Amino acid sequence: MKAAVVTDFGKPLEIQDLPVPEPGPGQVLVKMEASGLCHTDIHAAHGDWPVKPNPPFVPGHEGIGTVQAVGAGAPADLAGKRVAIPWLGSSCGTCRYCVSGWETLCESQVNSGYSVDGCYAEYALANAGAVVRVPEGVSSFDAAPLTCAGVTTYKAIKVAKVVPAERVAVFGIGGLGHLALQYARLVGGLVTAVDVEPEKLGLAHRLGADQTVNARTHDPVEEIKKAGGADVAVVLAAAPKAFEQAYRSLNRGGRLVMVGLPADNAAIDVPIFETVLGGISVIGSIVGTRQDLAEVFALHAAGRTRVIAETRRLEEVNDSFDEVLGGRAEARLVFEF
Ligand code: NAD
Ligand code: ZN
Ligand code: ZN
Repeated sequence: MKAAVVTDFGKPLEIQDLPVPEPGPGQVLVKMEASGLCHTDIHAAHGDWPVKPNPPFVPGHEGIGTVQAVGAGAPADLAGKRVAIPWLGSSCGTCRYCVSGWETLCESQVNSGYSVDGCYAEYALANAGAVVRVPEGVSSFDAAPLTCAGVTTYKAIKVAKVVPAERVAVFGIGGLGHLALQYARLVGGLVTAVDVEPEKLGLAHRLGADQTVNARTHDPVEEIKKAGGADVAVVLAAAPKAFEQAYRSLNRGGRLVMVGLPADNAAIDVPIFETVLGGISVIGSIVGTRQDLAEVFALHAAGRTRVIAETRRLEEVNDSFDEVLGGRAEARLVFEF
């Protein structure tokens, strides 16, 4: 099978011919139809984060395809079903996080396309308990970006507890951001979209953002304050500066939701006095659960969200990384098989 492989950090990915893997106990083999390119895959290939993957590895955690083979002990009725392979490749199932609906915090988790091979390949293995069925009303092409960009931003809006008429500032209108702003609107939020690329702001406007701010030409803090300040600021840019601006754009009682993962374990200054007196919350949010993803698919099947994505061939993986890094992708890129 064809696969895009990270052979070393910072090196271009190689298209290799690998044997089709056999599903082990509890696993399924998925024949890939569509596989989204998340910015996390670029961080993975560059070894950007404190916890690193081990090259060689196959990235990708927005994989959609049909179950071709079922390993021992995995539910036989999964055969032939269309499923999503998300970031959470498996979790222990018994720890305090797993049993309370927070499997995304499990300390024994395995991550698709990071600690195990992922979805930049014609076939991928997945743990049967981690995959999520894709409903008929959702195309594989739309389902791919929903599997990380969708579920992650859906969860971010949930943990921020946005209520109608609150202002939600979304920093970074890329793969994640174009969906974040839609979930913020779904719960009644007024949306300010912040990016550094005019095309991204045009997209945000078309998707219903109430205010757009180009952070390259305008100070987002000033512009957001002019509009009444943000009650929630969700940061999806991989730039530390955006986190500081987001913090400073908040009203009293505001919630900063950190989602983007800049390289080098970046930090921001959080002034204690202002945080205490302003009753500010700083929240880290990591992907979403299988249940969250099922909800994301249900909303999409009901016509409540739009996925903006363009297809690429797996052979174009390195150019595709450059497109995303250069801010030239409209929103999401999806490899089609
Ligand atoms: P993306 O490249 O598609 O989008 C990032 C956007 O940020 C782009 O539109 C870019 O123009 C914009 N941007 C860059 N600098 C900016 C700035 N200073 N101010 C405002 N906007 C700016 O990336 P993506 O796939 O949407 O992922 C975004 C980040 O989220 C990555 O760091 C990724 O690793 C992380 N991520 C986190 C989780 C999680 O669970 N916490 C899940 C998925 C992705
Ligand atoms: Zn992702
Ligand atoms: Zn666990």
